[in-house]
Amino acid sequence: MNIDTKYVLDTMIKYLNIPSPSGKTTAALEEVRRQFEDMGIGTVKTKKGAVIATIEGENTEEEKTISAHIDTLGAMVKGIKPNGRLKIVKVAGGTWTTLEGANVYVETRHGKKYRGTILPVYASTHIYGAAARETVRTDDNMEIRLDEIVKSKEDVKKLGINVGDYVHIDPLTEITDNGFIKSRYIDDKSAVAMVFGICKYLKDNKLKPKYTTNFFISNYEEVGHGVSAVPEKTTEFVAIDIGTVGGEQESDEFSVSIAAKDRSTPYDYDLRSKLVDIAEKNNVYYKIDVYINYGSDATQAMGQGFDFSFACIGPGVDATHHYERTHISAIENTMKLLIGYIMEE
Ligand SMILES: [Zn+2]
Repeated sequence: MNIDTKYVLDTMIKYLNIPSPSGKTTAALEEVRRQFEDMGIGTVKTKKGAVIATIEGENTEEEKTISAHIDTLGAMVKGIKPNGRLKIVKVAGGTWTTLEGANVYVETRHGKKYRGTILPVYASTHIYGAAARETVRTDDNMEIRLDEIVKSKEDVKKLGINVGDYVHIDPLTEITDNGFIKSRYIDDKSAVAMVFGICKYLKDNKLKPKYTTNFFISNYEEVGHGVSAVPEKTTEFVAIDIGTVGGEQESDEFSVSIAAKDRSTPYDYDLRSKLVDIAEKNNVYYKIDVYINYGSDATQAMGQGFDFSFACIGPGVDATHHYERTHISAIENTMKLLIGYIMEE
């Protein structure tokens, strides 16, 4: 398969550079829509703001839907302190430790962006000694230091910053010469990039999917209600989401992970087996894995009562929801499996 890896990586970097924490995904989704339309692929926007792009297949009676979520973890202003520092809360999960020292932009409702840094209240060892090292990081002791001359709540208010403003955290993307991809939010922007890579592959090779295929770019996965309004003819739903590498997991950073079960449910056994068969037929490196603290667009869809078979696959990613890392070969294996799946009876 002649997958255009450079295109996929360029697309990934583009979306990593458009902040899209859960609840503030409009700008990224506008770009998603533009990119599909530029490829000549029709889209619809759901009322909830998600984008569904559809490529017609040989069979138009039954459809396959493949999802990738554009939303990521993030943070939000919870309050403005009397000293001009910002109290913040996390949007979705993750840990404070990964955000300590992170540079950010605070975006006001009018689109103005202010630079700052996430720090613990007890940051300086010169001042706080052991407390700086040993204090457990919590919502109560993490804050934003704005790179503005602000000494009071009023000073901050004058900038236009308010409770509810989003905090955009620098993704720190780096791709090494030997193919490692390091960044925050590989979950799940790698999947969004792969969707475009797959569409380009189909187009470059003039391939028509066996079944009409919908690409569902969802926008609330990280907070537990990703997909809604799935196209009615969908009989199979495959979420592209990261495989978890580390601990006792089977997944690695070079293979595609095929989920057998996550926190809430086993995945559909027959569809999972079909994906394994397709992987073997196409010489795709894969791992089957059971995830612990994990859900996907597919499991969230089942929780909402949709009626279709469901699966979840994705590149193995180390240190998920922290400073994540995967390898280009995991991306390629995931794409090969998906292309095999789209072209399969
Ligand atoms: Zn995810």
